[in-house]
Amino acid sequence: MKNLINTVITKQKAFFKSRNTFDVTKRKNYLIELRKEIRKNESEIEHALFKDLGKSEGESYLTEIHFVYAELKIAINNIEKWAKRKSVRSSLLNFPSSDYIIAQPFGNTLHISPWNYPFQLSIAPLIGAIAAGNTVVLKPSEYSKNTSIILEKIVSNVFEDELVKVLLGGPELAKELLNHQWDYIFFTGSVNVGKIVAKKAAVNLTPTTLELGGKNPCIVDETASIKVTAKRIVWGKFINCGQTCIAPDFLIVNKRIKQKLTLEIINQIKILYGKNPQKSDSYGRIISNKHIKFLSSLLKDQKIIYGGKVDVKLKYFEPTLVEISSFKSDLMEQEIFGPILPIYGYDNFDEIDQIIYKYKNPLALYIFTKNRSFGEKFLRKYSFGGGAINDTVVHIINDRLPFGGIGNSGMGKYHGESTFKTFSHFKPYISKPLWIDIPLRYPPFKNKIKLLKKALKLIQ
Ligand code: NAD
Repeated sequence: MKNLINTVITKQKAFFKSRNTFDVTKRKNYLIELRKEIRKNESEIEHALFKDLGKSEGESYLTEIHFVYAELKIAINNIEKWAKRKSVRSSLLNFPSSDYIIAQPFGNTLHISPWNYPFQLSIAPLIGAIAAGNTVVLKPSEYSKNTSIILEKIVSNVFEDELVKVLLGGPELAKELLNHQWDYIFFTGSVNVGKIVAKKAAVNLTPTTLELGGKNPCIVDETASIKVTAKRIVWGKFINCGQTCIAPDFLIVNKRIKQKLTLEIINQIKILYGKNPQKSDSYGRIISNKHIKFLSSLLKDQKIIYGGKVDVKLKYFEPTLVEISSFKSDLMEQEIFGPILPIYGYDNFDEIDQIIYKYKNPLALYIFTKNRSFGEKFLRKYSFGGGAINDTVVHIINDRLPFGGIGNSGMGKYHGESTFKTFSHFKPYISKPLWIDIPLRYPPFKNKIKLLKKALKLIQ
């Protein structure tokens, strides 16, 4: 593997150095080809996602394939505009000059992706990296094997190895790749591995995007409409069997409506996935036995009020509700990343403040309330990656909204134009003529200090 890595990196470095990625029309054509290849392989992608995560056709199309088409569409339609040199107003101090900003590709980029949305989370960053003129080595997750294989096939049918190469393997491969010098690293995964990536990147001062996880609080105040609130929570929590980085991790519900909301959540689980979700076409599976064991361990000594059934062999984990009265447990200290929903009843808002500060900088924060201005104030108050009032997860859908974490939940952002910006260095330069050279800036200042101050005051 070491030899293969060296060969790929050497080839990609030479390819970038020869400015092969600088032609914007070529970049656009690659994206068009990528779209065609994905269309050709749609059913194989769906099949792979089913094998890896038990994803239904509808869910795969909505959350993975359509998502990628939307990213491709916006990149293909806007690439010329995004990549075009921008002219900006010049400073009077530089008179006369013309001032510009160029979107410069970083160069050779490394992408490491996770298993939970293995297609979308691998292809969406790649689209922006190619649109911006970079090369890519992509290492998808070893857990979502079937999707990784189809990713490799699609990429090798569209791109030459010099431009994009998928390398298949686990942490050992990722560690080896991180020993090399990259111009940009785009990592999506857990906080712990994110820290390893950041340390490695720091050795070469490599700019890095870290898309990480965390525990996302979801607050429901006493004014929220029970039915629609329950439905939107159930949808956001149990889609992809709870294995969504921006899923609500736990609920903090006003005690006055807790009982009613819990019953409606149970009702909605039954409506969306049936009385026995194991039989539902729409309910996914846990990625591996290791992850099932971890989820089961979180339930130890907890008060399960609904669900809890597990079938390790079939990687099935029932939608499970847990009533909690304390935040001191593995369940409340680790990211759940599965179909377990802890529910806590609060008395007053001071409690919420404390809880949210405990889970500082989550990737997402949600509040359900009829009082929209209160909801706005609430979301403004706390620091978090992104969120919603009266819904869960859906802020990811709009490509005009930058997506990413803050602090513990990551750094950097992408989607739509933000992905292009992530993979570009915005290089400023000015261009001046030689025929005129205003003497005001040059020392000695002694005789021109008055004039200099007067001139500067004009632009202060
Ligand atoms: P993970 O961190 O275990 O693995 C992610 C990738 O890193 C995989 O490709 C894996 O092979 C690689 N890796 C594992 N160990 C490594 C090491 N020591 N050095 C270098 N690379 C290593 O994450 P996961 O289990 O695949 O995904 C789940 C996590 O990802 C959750 O925490 C979830 O919240 C987060 N996530 C975040 C986002 C986001 O957009 N912010 C999206 C999806 C998932």
